[in-house]
Amino acid sequence: MRPKGCDGYAGLSYCMMEIDLKTHCLAGATRCLSPNFSDRPPKQLINLLVLHNISLPPGEFGGEDVLALFCNRLDIGKHPFFKEIAHLRVSSHLFIQRNGKVWQCVPFDKCAWHAGESIFAGQPDCNRYSIGIELEGADTVPYTQQQYQVLANVTCAIMHCYPDITLDKIVGHSDISPARKTDPGPSFDWEHYFLLVKAALKR
Ligand SMILES: [Zn+2]
Repeated sequence: MRPKGCDGYAGLSYCMMEIDLKTHCLAGATRCLSPNFSDRPPKQLINLLVLHNISLPPGEFGGEDVLALFCNRLDIGKHPFFKEIAHLRVSSHLFIQRNGKVWQCVPFDKCAWHAGESIFAGQPDCNRYSIGIELEGADTVPYTQQQYQVLANVTCAIMHCYPDITLDKIVGHSDISPARKTDPGPSFDWEHYFLLVKAALKR
């Protein structure tokens, strides 16, 4: 079941992506807006991009249970694991499925609740100053080429809109919460990703 509040898949141009400055959303992303967000502190600089993975049930791809989780509508009768996590209030700005489809769950000008307890360059609470992207995946399962390409194009659009996010300000969840988190995991090919981002930035 598609969570309420989601509009239809309008398709997305994968070559040119832009952030709409009125809505603070990626133009062309399908919206499934989560109530799990907060205001950023006044005049907060956005200067970190955090990559994650998630799949629900764990290791299974293709459903919309991740979106249901982000919208606090997870059906706990569907899988035993869902009972353990249904109380969580979490979200990310974007969710990129295996086929490259991009969902916007929180506008970029708000704090999404993706990082939890975290620290980067001595600054705690990364949610305050970061953008979070969830890739549909698992730590040991290779990501799809569609995901890499779309993620690179999205990254390029984010870097244009938020120039304080430079290549050295792109990290994994495991980098900012190393005691708790392992995502996006060893299956994420950082070298390949950065090559695609650099190519996208040149276009
Ligand atoms: Zn994560």
